[in-house]
Order: sequence, then C-alpha cells, then structure tokens
Amino acid sequence: MKTIDVDVAVIGAGSAGLTAFHAAKSHGVKVLLIERGPYGTTCARVGCMPSKLLIAAADAAHHATDAAGFGVHAGPVRIDGTAVMARVRAERDRFVGFVVDGVEHIDPADRLVGNARFLGPQQLQVDAHTIVNAARIVIATGSSPRRPAELQALGDRLIDNEQLFNWTSLPASVAVLGAGAVGLELGQALHRLGVRVAVFGRGDHIGPLSDPEVLDSALDCLGGEFDLRLGNQRFDAQRDDDGVLVQSAGKDCVVRSEHFSLVLAAAGRAPNLADLQLDRSGLALDAHGVPLFDRTTMQCGSSTIFIAGDVDAELPLLHEAVDQGRIAGSNAGGFPDVLAGLRRTPLGVVFCDPQIALVGQRYSALVAQKPAIGSVSFADQGRSRVIRQNRGLLRMYAERGSGRLLGAEMAGPRAEHLAHLLAWACQSRMTVAQMLDMPFYHPVIEEGIRTALRRLQDQLDKDVADIEHCADCTPGM
Ligand SMILES: Cc1cc2nc3c(=O)[nH]c(=O)nc-3n(C[C@H](O)[C@H](O)[C@H](O)COP(=O)(O)OP(=O)(O)OC[C@H]3O[C@@H](n4cnc5c(N)ncnc54)[C@H](O)[C@@H]3O)c2cc1C
Repeated sequence: MKTIDVDVAVIGAGSAGLTAFHAAKSHGVKVLLIERGPYGTTCARVGCMPSKLLIAAADAAHHATDAAGFGVHAGPVRIDGTAVMARVRAERDRFVGFVVDGVEHIDPADRLVGNARFLGPQQLQVDAHTIVNAARIVIATGSSPRRPAELQALGDRLIDNEQLFNWTSLPASVAVLGAGAVGLELGQALHRLGVRVAVFGRGDHIGPLSDPEVLDSALDCLGGEFDLRLGNQRFDAQRDDDGVLVQSAGKDCVVRSEHFSLVLAAAGRAPNLADLQLDRSGLALDAHGVPLFDRTTMQCGSSTIFIAGDVDAELPLLHEAVDQGRIAGSNAGGFPDVLAGLRRTPLGVVFCDPQIALVGQRYSALVAQKPAIGSVSFADQGRSRVIRQNRGLLRMYAERGSGRLLGAEMAGPRAEHLAHLLAWACQSRMTVAQMLDMPFYHPVIEEGIRTALRRLQDQLDKDVADIEHCADCTPGM
C-alpha cells in the first residue's frame, strides 16, 4: 500500500469537489482530488444539462403542435426518437468533455482514482492501494437516485437518470415514480415526445412548492396536460414479457393494473455517505447520518473536516454545490482561518411547463409570521396571453413593517427569469416600494410582478393605516 501526505484531500470530483479543489489550491497548499467514478460531474453527465437537452426537444415538439392555436399549421408532428436521443447524447458529451478537459489539466500527482473511506479524522484509504494522510478533508461525494428496494427485481427495466440519457431511442411507455423536480421534468418531457407516461406521487405535493394556492394552480396546468397521479397509496411492479406490469392504487384504493415499458425511479436522491466509513471520522451525525456542519463555513463541528454539495442534503442544486465547494475548499486550504462565506438567497427552478420557481424563504417557513402576500394570476396577464402561455400563479411574500421582500413561489411562463429578478431583489434586501420604483417595459411578463407588488404595497399601506387608527397608539387612551 502506498502512502501520500497532503494538506487537503477532497473526496469527489463533482461540481462541489472541483470547486473545493481549486479554492484550496489557491492557498498554496498541497491538495489531492480523489474520484471513484468517471470524471464529468453529475450536472453535465446525468443531471442538469442532459435533462434540459431532453426538455428542449420536448418543447420543440410541443410548440410545433401548439402552433395551430395561432393559426399556424406545421403539419403532423413526427418525433424521431433516435434523432432526439442522438442530439441529447452528443450535446451532453460536449458538456462532459469540457469538464473532463478541466480535470485533465490538473497535475496527475494531485489526482487519485478510487473509493475513499475514513480510517481516522485525518486519514483515508483509497481502494486497496493508497493511504492518504490529510491535515484537512473536504467531503464532496454528491448523491445518488433512490431506487426502491422492492423494485430491484425489475432489473434493467428499473431505470434512473444515470441510464436515461444513454438511450438510443425513446421507449413506448414509462411509469415515473416520484413527482419531485426530476420526475416532473422528465415525465412531462417524455410525454411531449410521444411516450405514454404516468407520473406517480405519494403525497399531494409536486416539486418543491409549499404555497397551497400556487400548488393548486400548478396542478391544474400540469395535471391537465399529462397523467399525474398524486396521493398514490400503492405501487407494485413486476417484469412481464416485454416490460413491466404496474399495480397502483390512488386515494380511492381502487387497484389499477397497467403495462409500461420501464419504471423510472425519480423518488428523490440520497447523499453518498454509505461507503465513507464515517464512524471512523469522529464526526457528529444527524438522524439521517449526515455530518453536522455550519452552513456559513461548511466546517463539520470544530473538526478539520468540511463538507459541500448534495452530500450535505441542504439544497441539492448546482449553484449551491459550487458555492459550498468554494467555501469548504477555501476554509480547508486556509485553515486554521475559518471564515464565513457568501450564502446567497435561495433560488430553485423546475423546468417543467409552466415552470415552477421558488425564491428566498418558502411559504411554509413564513406562514406562521403572517407575511403580507401579493399575487398575480397569469391567466389575464397581457404578454402571457399574447404568447398563449397565460397560465399559472405568482405569490410574493413581504415582511410587515419593513416592507422587505422575503420570498416568492410561482408556477408560470418564463418563471426562471422572474425568479432571478426576485432573487436579486431579495438578496439586495429591497422593499416592495423600492421594487415598484424600478423600470418595467411594456408589454412583458415582468409586468405581472408589478401587479403583485402593487397588491403587496396595498396590504402594507393598509397595515400603516390600521396602526394610525390603533386605539392603543392614540394619546390619552
Ligand atoms: C436529473 C437531474 C437534473 C438536475 N437538474 C438541475 C438543474 O436544472 N439545476 C440545478 O441547479 N441542479 C440540478 N440538479 C442537481 C445538480 O446536478 C446537483 O446538485 C449537483 O450536480 C451536485 O454536485 P456535487 O458535486 O454535490 O455531486 P456530484 O457531481 O455527483 O459529485 C460527487 C462525486 O463524488 C464521487 N464519489 C462519491 N463517493 C465517493 C467516494 N467514497 N470516494 C471517491 N469519490 C466518491 C462521485 O463519483 C461523484 O463524481 C439535477 C440533478 C439531477 C439528477
């Protein structure tokens, strides 16, 4: 067994790990990057990028069909599944290629291939070939799709995002297990590409939405387009001749038997912790086995171990993985100087149609403090109607008293752009009044934000009026 001594070891060469590696390196210390799988990151290889490529093809098919609503007839739409998947794979490989190029520019002496596990708080073993003594360690091992144990007998007919983007054509039908972000995005995209799809969700929620009014609106839109089954009580599946026999039951408990080509596991992702032998790390863990950490420094307790990315299960999103990696790597490199890094206003987008987006604090976290709420329906919003995307709802939350924007949840057209605007306002600690002073062009979807802001301001003004007439505040009372 070989032994290597380094200042910092980073476990995982995903988006968080690569960022941590470079941030630690910038302190002039010796850093080792350890990776057990193929280089290329989850984002580029099997996550953000190939999923958006599939959605782009699906949107093209949808717009071609939908053009009739404008009086434009494109003729019968034909979807060439082989060509669709060829583009997805080719563009995906291009994105992966950029990442792999970047990794290959790292000095081979600073890289090690193999599975890392803890032998002690400052010692790792990588496969059976190397012992790494590291003064500091960054855990950036990402997450993996949850594959229900009871469905393992489906073999290669149970797939997840790791296999889907390698398809060479489209299947006839897919049962999607899970109505979170991944299930909604892939389920709707496959539906629009002519695959028979049913999306099964156990609860009553979809995606990350917590505002019941926005949720209802999103359900109307998405459930009106494809087979979305929430409140699912039962999901059994067995291999049959050429696919899978699914037996499911909704809230009515009526059992339904159907045939699908495949089952897509999209029921969440689990942090990659099992192979790390964390019991040897000396770290305190939460109830789910995730090390306890400080979200501003990414330090685990007062140890020399830092954590970043999906593995910490805080906000499993690409930009968060990168931010966390930068903070963890910089603190590991600059140790013992441990500094709080920038954590931005939370921002999440689900690329279904209409898009779902969350900004700042969620409704569920705010509801107890009774924030002022302003909303706008996109049904009659001018520009949304012009482009025939007039569906969905935006609700914005502001702090009573200060008038500061706290957050928003939405399902609506071009929500990815609206959400950015609102996230920038939130992070700048803008008040509703300040936002109303900003320019709005006409006719744009952003005018919907202005309508919601005006309604918010009306509520905030009413609060002031109520206080003016408050008996307790009146002299002499
Ligand atoms: C289908 C899908 C769509 C998505 N879409 C979006 C999106 O649109 N926008 C967005 O912001 N986010 C999206 N995400 C989430 C985003 O991809 C992740 O948040 C991000 O890639 C996480 O990066 P990471 O560095 O934490 O993990 P990863 O990139 O997975 O890196 C972890 C690395 O650690 C390695 N590893 C694990 N254990 C060990 C070990 N013991 N030893 C050595 N190496 C190890 C793994 O092999 C892996 O390479 C999507 C995810 C999926 C699955």
